[in-house]
Amino acid sequence: MYSAVVTLDIATLFAVTVFSMGLGGVLLLFAWLQARDTPALAWWGAAFVVFTPASALFGARGIIADIWSIQAANALMLLGYGMLWTGARVFEGRRPVAPLIVAGSFIWLAACQIDAFMHSLPARVALATTLIAVYTFAFVFELWRARGDGLVSRWPIMALAALHVVMFPVRMPYLTSVPFPLAAPSFGTQSSSLLVFAPLLYSFAIVFLLMALAKERAESKQRYAASIDPLTGIPNRRGFSERAERLIARARRDQTPLTLLLFDLDQFKSINDRFGHRTGDAVLGLFTRSAVDSLRPLDLLGRIGGEEFVALLPGVTPDVAVGVAERVRSNFATMASCVGGHSVAATVSVGTASAGQSGYDFDTLYASADAALYRAKKLGRNRIEAGRPTLDPPGPTPDLMPAA
Ligand code: GH3
Ligand code: MG
Ligand code: MG
Repeated sequence: MYSAVVTLDIATLFAVTVFSMGLGGVLLLFAWLQARDTPALAWWGAAFVVFTPASALFGARGIIADIWSIQAANALMLLGYGMLWTGARVFEGRRPVAPLIVAGSFIWLAACQIDAFMHSLPARVALATTLIAVYTFAFVFELWRARGDGLVSRWPIMALAALHVVMFPVRMPYLTSVPFPLAAPSFGTQSSSLLVFAPLLYSFAIVFLLMALAKERAESKQRYAASIDPLTGIPNRRGFSERAERLIARARRDQTPLTLLLFDLDQFKSINDRFGHRTGDAVLGLFTRSAVDSLRPLDLLGRIGGEEFVALLPGVTPDVAVGVAERVRSNFATMASCVGGHSVAATVSVGTASAGQSGYDFDTLYASADAALYRAKKLGRNRIEAGRPTLDPPGPTPDLMPAA
């Protein structure tokens, strides 16, 4: 049997850690260059860039003067943690707080001016870890308070950062017994794994997850932009149908009423022709406002064509729906009678269709409401027509009935 034992000395491991911190920083900065609208990536990248010389200075303890390996190293490390926290703030749309970013480093450097403090390793370790814990919890807090946006990457980051802090008391005894300079051969594997491997894995995981978080945010922003109509700020056809499918599925499951309203502005082409496209756009905005004002927050409104809108009303029966449609119609007629000094007198026609009559299916509901809307147009516009039941009545269909 042949066996080989590979041992890594602590100095090599430390060098690997320093190198990977720098690499992490570069990767985050590179990600930021490709996504300039996410400045958090720049803060996080800069934090790791700052961690790199900090770790190198720590590792050189006993070789270089204490002012560098103790005072400067910890001050830099704390600055990095302040930047990591600021990245999370900026990511959630908050402003950086410059004095607080450097506060940890200042407290540290001030304490270092006290001789008794400088000569007590436990006191130094306690202060440094406390300050790091404060920054890390602030970092977790920023991610926590914005948790409602559905980005799942924030959870492993919070868990990992919390674990990082919780591990400090475990690492403490080892931290206070590190044999400096690091080349000393008597260093145990347990100590080295806790002191070197843990931060190494932690930084790798955090860098990876922060990039994943930024990517997740970018994708969710793109998805949102693709589903919203920029002129009116309500869902476009795509956004509407995605949300509508969910509402319809829920109503089908619970067998609750559901009504679809289809709106088409009257003689809109002529409004554009007479008053200009800008006035036309303003009228579209006014329609959106009058519909939003007349609907409940849980109703779904969408713009599915140039001057065509649709609303899906969960729990609303056909009779009630006609009342809602009438409210939208009259609100709009009032709001759009005069637009930008012109007497535009815009109106809207509405067709309705209910799931109880047409079945829980978007295409069927839409077809039924469209047929009703067509009747509303034919009957003179500025009015509401209710869809007719399209479900086949029970029993034989008419053309299969025996001739009387
Ligand atoms: P009807 O009463 O039969 O619905 O007549 P209409 O003129 O409203 O119907 P038509 O479909 O002929 O005209 C729709 C017009 O909507 C034509 C198009 O120029 C206009 N339109 C579509 N999108 C926009 C937009 O974003 N802004 C403006 N201002 N006009 C738009
Ligand atoms: Mg139309
Ligand atoms: Mg029209």
